[in-house]
Amino acid sequence: MPMSGFPVTLRVRDLRNAGPHAYALNLERDAAELEWQPGQWASLRLPVGPHPPLVRAYSFAQPAWVEGPVPLVFDDVPEGVGTQYLKSLLPGDSVEVGAVAGKFVLPDPLPAGIVFLARFTGVVPVHCILKELERLGNPPSVTLISGAPTSGDLVFHEALTELAERASWFTYHPVSLDGGRDELSVLDKIPHFGHDVVPMVSGVRAFTQPVRACLMERYGYERRAVRVENYD
Ligand SMILES: Cc1cc2nc3c(=O)[nH]c(=O)nc-3n(C[C@H](O)[C@H](O)[C@H](O)COP(=O)(O)OP(=O)(O)OC[C@H]3O[C@@H](n4cnc5c(N)ncnc54)[C@H](O)[C@@H]3O)c2cc1C
Repeated sequence: MPMSGFPVTLRVRDLRNAGPHAYALNLERDAAELEWQPGQWASLRLPVGPHPPLVRAYSFAQPAWVEGPVPLVFDDVPEGVGTQYLKSLLPGDSVEVGAVAGKFVLPDPLPAGIVFLARFTGVVPVHCILKELERLGNPPSVTLISGAPTSGDLVFHEALTELAERASWFTYHPVSLDGGRDELSVLDKIPHFGHDVVPMVSGVRAFTQPVRACLMERYGYERRAVRVENYD
């Protein structure tokens, strides 16, 4: 049945580990036909915090056309009020979705190339967008630089490695931050990084802000030409 409006209540199908410090939360979607564009997020209304509901956004990990539950992935923020509640959810528990929104979506028309830079769970909307690109007939050339505290924390690492092996249009650069490199040091090594390439940056501001500044100062991008999804 098509969804008539928000908020909508979805049931938890399951909660799994998505690495040592991240969780995959799958929500049943038979109660409502939730629609979203790849790169968008759901606004969850959580019954915790000093003034409930506590509103927290989580990006969709798969496009809406992929069958199955609504897939969200969150990292384990120590003492994070929303995170600690989400971690406690059990199958059958209800979760209230207040809205679906977001502008971190594919540029229209598609550019010649896209460079994604993501840190930790910042890769969640990127994974969703890549699934959509894979479905397109003639996707642009896409590079993903994905960083995480350790190699074990790289979210979607296996799926992204496999995509890079089968898709000639996609290049994947995982970066383990405990190895003495960061995402920007990898960016420097990408050849032909020109202005027909759209940069898209996702994660916490401690990551997105210096990356945007670098793209402006070192590569000459205008501020608005760098698409950013800030998590905090
Ligand atoms: C558009 C959008 C999309 C988002 N998508 C995702 C997603 O797909 N997966 C996901 O894990 N989070 C996502 N977030 C962040 C999420 O909404 C919460 O902010 C995060 O889970 C922390 O909430 P909390 O209540 O547990 O932490 P709070 O109690 O609010 O504490 C926040 C503190 O944790 C730090 N922090 C560490 N890691 C994160 C993080 N990942 N996000 C935000 N703050 C962090 C912040 O810098 C801040 O100091 C998104 C945020 C936005 C605005």
